[in-house]
Amino acid sequence: MSLPPLVEPADELTVDEVRRYSRHLIIPDVGMAGQKRLKNAKVLCVGAGGLGSPALMYLAAAGVGTLGIIDFDVVDESNLQRQIIHGQSDVGRLKAESAAASVREINPLVEVVIHNTALTTENVMEIFSGYDLIVDGTDNFATRYMVNDAAVLLGKPYVWGSIYRFDGQASVFWAEHGPCYRCLYPEPPPPGMVPSCAEGGVLGVLCASIGSIQVNEAIKLLTGIGDPLVGRLMIYDALEMKYRDVKVRKDPECVLCGKNPTVTELLDDYEAFCGAISDEAAEAASGSTITALELKGMMDRGENIFVVDVREPNEYEIVSIPGATLIPKGEFLNGSALEKLPQDKKIVLHCKSGARSAEALAVVKSAGFSDAVHVGGGVLSWVKTVDPSLPSY
Ligand SMILES: [Zn+2]
Repeated sequence: MSLPPLVEPADELTVDEVRRYSRHLIIPDVGMAGQKRLKNAKVLCVGAGGLGSPALMYLAAAGVGTLGIIDFDVVDESNLQRQIIHGQSDVGRLKAESAAASVREINPLVEVVIHNTALTTENVMEIFSGYDLIVDGTDNFATRYMVNDAAVLLGKPYVWGSIYRFDGQASVFWAEHGPCYRCLYPEPPPPGMVPSCAEGGVLGVLCASIGSIQVNEAIKLLTGIGDPLVGRLMIYDALEMKYRDVKVRKDPECVLCGKNPTVTELLDDYEAFCGAISDEAAEAASGSTITALELKGMMDRGENIFVVDVREPNEYEIVSIPGATLIPKGEFLNGSALEKLPQDKKIVLHCKSGARSAEALAVVKSAGFSDAVHVGGGVLSWVKTVDPSLPSY
């Protein structure tokens, strides 16, 4: 598939620009027209971290005329292993400011726009509307779904990437020409099921591998050359040193970009949608999360377990897992739940989606119930995978 260029060419290149970009200009597919398009392009990079670092540096060097940087974080020493746009002297500095300084040093002809703020449902539409293309370098699911939804609602393409340990993925999501992120991942993973780089680590150089794919695709979209990564997912395994791409089809039932969309504006709360949980809860859930089907198996085998539903009584009334004892999360947080737990049974916690039970799990584990687990996806997952006859809510 080839697509028309995203950006009209600028009127002209200055003598300085011709000198600077000469290695682009002599590539027939780029040439003067392509470089003028890059000059006219406005690209926003969401996040100046692992993926944003190489992306911003190469977008700047390539001569993208306007580069937006959005990040609210400050540079930490633990960032420097991979976030190469920042240096030792930037530790403690705002990432957006530090990244902007590096961009200006790489290419003073680039106009840098600093958005020193968190991306929120209040500002995402307005910020995105000022750009032709978004490069998504976010590291959490809440922001990822928000970026996707805003881009689809605005009809803008975005280049997505993700990294973990030795594995990377990248794709271009553009609902007008192919699938969106929700077509590939209709639902966020249950909390605790997918560890972040902060929990699981990431090989620093992996950022360059995936970030460079993102820039490569951005340049192709802006200038209208090559076969863009629309409808394809690139999967990179750094240990095997293998790239493979798999087809991603547009889902006609996609709630956002399908035939009968039910999501027609931004969600109120992406954190809640993704069941965002505290660091303590994420740590407790890591390696101690079971699926609803696994719980069913434990029950069927008659294992010595004590299943606790940490939701509220009204939720328990709507639907509950057979045999579960109701002890709302608040009782774990104030400590009163602990005396209700048997010492001689394995504790299995669950809630609606897995967020609250992860919080309760952190309390239970630190109280000494070291083999306690919680159910990823909670009662919703139970309804979906074990007993679809039960009501969902
Ligand atoms: Zn979609």
